[in-house]
Amino acid sequence: MYNSLALEKYNKKTIDLLDSDPHWQIVITTTALSLGIHAEELRDSIAVGTANTQDNRKQDVGRAGWKEGIIACRIIFMTMTELNKVNKIVKASGKVSVAAVSKVKQTTRAGKDTKKPLNPAKVVFLAEKVCPVACENVVYDNPPPRTLRMDCIQAQHPIPCDLCCMQYKLPYDPCQFPSSSDETTLHLFTMPSTASKPHKPRKKADDLKKVELEEVERALATYEQQLYAEEQLVAPHCYHPCSLYFPNALQEAIASDLLKIKSLAALNIILALKSWPFIELQSSNLFDYISLLQKTIHFQYGLSDIEKSSSNIDAVNLPPLNPSK
Ligand SMILES: [Zn+2]
Repeated sequence: MYNSLALEKYNKKTIDLLDSDPHWQIVITTTALSLGIHAEELRDSIAVGTANTQDNRKQDVGRAGWKEGIIACRIIFMTMTELNKVNKIVKASGKVSVAAVSKVKQTTRAGKDTKKPLNPAKVVFLAEKVCPVACENVVYDNPPPRTLRMDCIQAQHPIPCDLCCMQYKLPYDPCQFPSSSDETTLHLFTMPSTASKPHKPRKKADDLKKVELEEVERALATYEQQLYAEEQLVAPHCYHPCSLYFPNALQEAIASDLLKIKSLAALNIILALKSWPFIELQSSNLFDYISLLQKTIHFQYGLSDIEKSSSNIDAVNLPPLNPSK
C-alpha cells in the first residue's frame, strides 16, 4: 500500500522493492503515487475511476513504462454514470471540442448549477470515438502540427489503441496485451500464507458472522452518506434530515437478512414494510450494492460449496463501488 498517510520511510521502501524485488508485483495506491515517483520497473497502471482533470489523468497513468523496451498497459475504469454525463454534455455542446464543451452549463437533475462540473478536456477525451491518442494531441496542441490529428496507424505507433484496432479491423484483445521486448519473466504471484487461513463454518448458510455483520453495517452507513449526498440535491427531499434517507431500522433489517436477499423483489418487500420513500428511484441501485456486499462476503470470508450453489452470486454483475446515480 502506498499513500500519503504512511510513513515516508515505508513509502520509499515500497518504491525500492518495486524496482529490486521480482516478487513484488502489485502496489495498491492512492493518487499519492502519481506525483514525483520514479519506479523504473512499473509496467502497468490500472486506475479505478477517472481523475478530475485531463492533466491529473496524464500524471496518474504516466508512472508506468519508463524503462526502455517496456510496453506499458494503462487501463482506466469509469462508471456508466460518468459516461452518461459525458454523452449528455457532448450532445448539448453540439461539437466535440474543449471550447464548445466549456460553454455548456452543467446542471443537476433539479436544474441547479452542479458543484462539480466535469473538466472540459476530460469530457472531450472520454467522448472520443476515433483515437484517444490523436484526441490527446489535439487537446494539448502537441507539435508538430503535421502529425497532430494522425491516429495510431497513420502515426505508425508500435501498439495501436483499442479504437484504432476496431476502426482498422485489427485483432484486439485487452487480455492479450503484447508483451514487452525485454526478456524478464515475472514470478508467479503467490498469496501470502496468512490469507489462506481456514475459515470457521457459519452456523446457518444465510446467517452472517459477527465480523461480517460489522462490516455490512459499516458499508450500509457508507451507502447512507452517498444516498444523502445524491438525493438531498433533489428538490422534494432537500429539507429532510439525513436520518430519514436511510433509517437505522431499515439498515438493521437489511443487515440481518443480507444473505437472504436474492432478488430485487425480496428487497422491495423489506423496503415497502419500512415505507422507504426512495423505492422507485433507488431500490435497484441498493440491490446492486447489496449484491456486491454479498459477493464480497462470499469471497472475503469463504463459503462452502453447498452455500455457494444455494446463492445467486453468479448472476450478479459487479456494480460500481459507489451506488450509481
Ligand atoms: Zn489510436
